Amino acid sequence: IPVTAFDLVVFGAAGDLSLRKLIPALFHRWRDDQIPAESRIVGVSRSNHDDQSFRDLALKSFREFHPQEIVSDDEWARFASQLYYTELDVVSDQANWEPLCEKLGEPGQKQRVFYLALAPDLYGAVSANIKRAGIKTTGARIVLEKPIGRDLNSAKQINDAVGAVFDEGSIFRIDHYLGKETVQNLTVLRFMNSLFEPVWNANAIDHVEITVSESIGAGTRASYYDKSGALRDMVQNHLLQLLCLVAMEPPLDLEPDTVRDEKIKVMRALRAITEKNVRETTVRGQYHRGASNGEAVPGYAEELGGTSSTETFVAIKANIDNWRWKGTPFYLRTGKRMRQRYSEIIVHFKEIAHSLVKNGKEGIPPTRMVIRLQPDEGVKLLLVTKDPGPGGMRLRYVPLNLSFADTFEARYPDAYERLLMAVVRGDLGLFMRRDEVEAAWKWVDGILAGWHKDETPAHPYAAGTDGPVQAAMLLDRDGREWYHGA
Ligand code: NAP
Repeated sequence: IPVTAFDLVVFGAAGDLSLRKLIPALFHRWRDDQIPAESRIVGVSRSNHDDQSFRDLALKSFREFHPQEIVSDDEWARFASQLYYTELDVVSDQANWEPLCEKLGEPGQKQRVFYLALAPDLYGAVSANIKRAGIKTTGARIVLEKPIGRDLNSAKQINDAVGAVFDEGSIFRIDHYLGKETVQNLTVLRFMNSLFEPVWNANAIDHVEITVSESIGAGTRASYYDKSGALRDMVQNHLLQLLCLVAMEPPLDLEPDTVRDEKIKVMRALRAITEKNVRETTVRGQYHRGASNGEAVPGYAEELGGTSSTETFVAIKANIDNWRWKGTPFYLRTGKRMRQRYSEIIVHFKEIAHSLVKNGKEGIPPTRMVIRLQPDEGVKLLLVTKDPGPGGMRLRYVPLNLSFADTFEARYPDAYERLLMAVVRGDLGLFMRRDEVEAAWKWVDGILAGWHKDETPAHPYAAGTDGPVQAAMLLDRDGREWYHGA
């Protein structure tokens, strides 16, 4: 789909997100002819750069973060001729905004987008200053990174402050998981194939597991991470969004608000976790010294330079109190410094009712659907089949495998590429609405308050493992275990 010309202002342009993800994503879209020649990308930060030194920094970062990609100086220069930089402290006086106003100039017909790659506590002030500086054009859009706040109250304050300048239809709250190919495919898979919907409920599904496992630690960002922890950093946004997409009722169509209306119904049906049930339904963990990829790595407290009660791992048994999911728990798990980096949704169907082979149901695994989000994206349906050959009725558990890389040969864009282009096109479907974010915080706040009262410390786990043993016990109590692969 052709993209109309736009001016994109990236606040926080010298930061990690901008240099590691946003500018590389824009470069890839430029390579695919998706950035019209009149479009401009204007980076804004306090660091001292001019256009050229910022272009050089962006290239250096690109080569560092994408070492496998070849980009010549000449190719970069052609892309970077659309890349500019303005030094500005976004919370400073209006007079300081003049150079940015001048650089942006008259928008003409161009769509204007402000991307806030900044700490969330600046979102309100930046929005107000954008308005005061007179650079908010009619229909201008604003992109907010997660996390929107650190609890329901702060999220409301941020949403109010941004909402005082931009209307809800112009606010694009990023959850980059929603930009992943498999996540978008989940809705198509569920609702555009007649096979799944009749069995997508508690009658046929025993339980659902959502794991987002990171192998990296908090590292040099430990002091920043320490203020949030795994629940705020990952569950409030990514894991709950995935849960909603797996659990929602069929939407009437794929219009942004139709889908978002269904997602929020799931969020509202989540059984509250409070001080009363927090112990049976959640596990907090923190990594200690261990090994990652065969190398010794420090514990979280060592990286932080002091002790901390912040969790780097969390496992939750979530229940959705509605007709479809009564009795089917959703187990969520995420952590840093785990054995492997991967994200998966596993739908575990119920055991067969009766076995046709003599040794009973023992050893006959249930049908499972494994939806893999990273590192490789794809969907597997694990089925029991007969082992070929004359050796009698020997059974084997094999996948019907849809690997995106093998099936669709072309390179497909990464989440940020898709999301940035969706903002320019005005497609809100891949972004979170205000009420979704606030409903997610409401549920998470209950857990945080429960932990606060309960005072159970984070359970230690060695770096490079699957988290604390208590996470295994959470499922063991229900006669289940975390999926370890077929
Ligand atoms: P970061 O590395 O700290 O970058 C933020 C940048 O903002 C800094 O480089 C800083 O550059 C600039 N900045 C800070 N205060 C400013 C001010 N008053 N005026 C102008 N510029 C200012 O943080 P980040 O990791 O890129 O994260 C940015 C946002 O994205 C955060 O909300 C974060 O939660 C979110 N996020 C990040 C990632 C990621 O992968 N990094 C992923 C998901 C979400 P100067 O010092 O030059 O001003």
